[in-house]
Amino acid sequence: MSGAITVHDTAIIGAGFAGLGAAIRLQRNGIDDYVILERDTRPGGTWRDNTYPGAACDIPSRLYSYSFAPNPDWSRTYSGSAEILSYIDAMVAEFDLARRIRYRTTVTGLVFDEAEGVWEVSVADGPPVHARTVVLASGPLSTPGYPDIRGIDDYTGVRMHSAAWDHDYDFTGKKVGVIGTGASAVQIVPELVKTAAHVSVFQRTPGWVLPRFNPTVSDRTKAVYRRLPGAQRVARATWFAGHEAVALGVVWASPATRVVEAVSKINMRRQVPDPWMRRQLTPDFRAGCKRLLMTSDYYPALQRDNCRLITWPIARISEKGVRTVEGIEHQFDALVFATGFEVSKQGTPIPVVGRDGRVLAQEWARGAYAYKSFAVSGYPNLYFTFGPNSGPGHSSALVYMEAQIEAIVTAIHTVLDRDLALLDVRADVQADHNADIQRRLRATTWNSGCQSWYLTADGFNATMFPGFAAQYVAQMRGVDLSSDFTAVARRNAPVAAVAG
Ligand code: NAP
Repeated sequence: MSGAITVHDTAIIGAGFAGLGAAIRLQRNGIDDYVILERDTRPGGTWRDNTYPGAACDIPSRLYSYSFAPNPDWSRTYSGSAEILSYIDAMVAEFDLARRIRYRTTVTGLVFDEAEGVWEVSVADGPPVHARTVVLASGPLSTPGYPDIRGIDDYTGVRMHSAAWDHDYDFTGKKVGVIGTGASAVQIVPELVKTAAHVSVFQRTPGWVLPRFNPTVSDRTKAVYRRLPGAQRVARATWFAGHEAVALGVVWASPATRVVEAVSKINMRRQVPDPWMRRQLTPDFRAGCKRLLMTSDYYPALQRDNCRLITWPIARISEKGVRTVEGIEHQFDALVFATGFEVSKQGTPIPVVGRDGRVLAQEWARGAYAYKSFAVSGYPNLYFTFGPNSGPGHSSALVYMEAQIEAIVTAIHTVLDRDLALLDVRADVQADHNADIQRRLRATTWNSGCQSWYLTADGFNATMFPGFAAQYVAQMRGVDLSSDFTAVARRNAPVAAVAG
């Protein structure tokens, strides 16, 4: 490697919640030589992209925020995407992160130089970036996914994905088709029916719906949170505990799952008087197997005069709309795809080449796996946020992210402090961890027989963590760099232990 290149301590890929959180914690721990590579022109990740009408988070903001960046001013229990994006912007300003972000920088690959202990991060339209450690924080839900439906490119009307909303398009008086009935669709439909002339919702699989109450936070409560940070910590802990209780019915297929299903059915009976429609909306899988839908607005929206639920399977998309299998063509001015994301559970979002030229996409061809979700054997000094088996089904993604970030910062500190060329997790430790994760997953709702983005086509669950959030946090605190990793010093002398 030529001596002229700059080698950063850390390159962070992605300026969403995870990448920014990692940057803040690195900074706080005295590591300031890092660069954040972001393909877009502003920070925010999924909250920058998902601005569809009604976009909001179904986890309470007190818990869906970083404990190291508390916000006393959340306006409601559950925040909309604009308020969450403002929170992210405020974090960027408060921690002075903008100076480290390189926008319009799309990472195209990673190659590890074992001799130097340096990752070469190639980027589109520019010279590569070099760093001793890399945090891959590009997020699993960052690339819009379109369904594999025949004729999708034949459609000549306006085509919009939930994660790439065109706010210049006016839906007033338009005939609109919505494909998908997941977490995004149930937020979009109640807004669309307010302006569109007619909305047709194409449902392939109904989901379990729970009601969501979203009170505003009073000025007095905000003032208390501002004056007494401890009060906010208590509120967060209370929400945390409440969601942990929900795990009993949502994570594991258990008698508590029946309780969740009963609550959902009571809610449906209250909101949907028509028995035939209730039948159409009743899932045939265990609650929690697919993500629970938290909304009190979706069922009423479906029953408005200008809305129709269509459960006939889609045969194809035509020039003018959607043709269902019984032969009817539904014609639309606009088609909304609320069909989720391209989630890479097999292979990697970008090519990653590790020690001895090994290629991560090949190793993950049948499903991704890692050591405690954040490191992969053979790919030293590379750390994942939201890596394999780190997904929560019942709690805040940010609780999980925080735990990952603390483990990552400790590992990066170790590489830099001890001047290591590489810190690589042991393959046998990783294999034991994964055997345990896959064994525990067998008892979960996600593996109980539905199809979801959590599973590969052959049913391998590379996505979710089978346990309470507290267990995930304990798992990440239990990362043992001295016994579970191999360390090699920069001068190529093996290091006996990295503890201390
Ligand atoms: P999703 O949950 O993957 O839902 C996609 C929808 O499109 C499903 O209803 C799916 O039907 C349907 N679909 C896909 N291909 C289809 C086809 N060929 N024909 C007919 N229908 C098809 O996507 P999403 O709603 O965007 O949510 C993705 C994830 O984003 C969520 O699980 C969640 O993690 C996150 N999210 C979170 C929030 C929040 O409030 N925190 C809000 C929105 C999204 P099937 O069910 O039959 O596959």
